[in-house]
Amino acid sequence: MTQNIGLDVKVPTKECNDVHCPFHGTLSIRGKLFDGKVTGDKAKQTVTLQKETHLYFSKYKRYARSTSTIHAHVPECIVVSSGDHVLTAECRPIAKSVSYVVVEVKE
Ligand SMILES: [Zn+2]
Repeated sequence: MTQNIGLDVKVPTKECNDVHCPFHGTLSIRGKLFDGKVTGDKAKQTVTLQKETHLYFSKYKRYARSTSTIHAHVPECIVVSSGDHVLTAECRPIAKSVSYVVVEVKE
């Protein structure tokens, strides 16, 4: 049975037994949404995304570009590879650095 996660996303066609799946498991999502490009898919069921932000230095009145990495869990029913554009949603921490879950792969 697929749960409604409260977001307007494509529901995966496959069913899975992953407890950390927002559609078929017990994981609930809340908080921020983040969409970005997958930069790494080496870890099992986890991908990395690059997040670009701008830091303002008031002394020099200029912005500096800075990047940070987000780790996101991939449920068993979603297939993600490096270079894909995905939408992730914030959830409770699944691991020390993983508190986002992939909910949709965009075209
Ligand atoms: Zn699932």
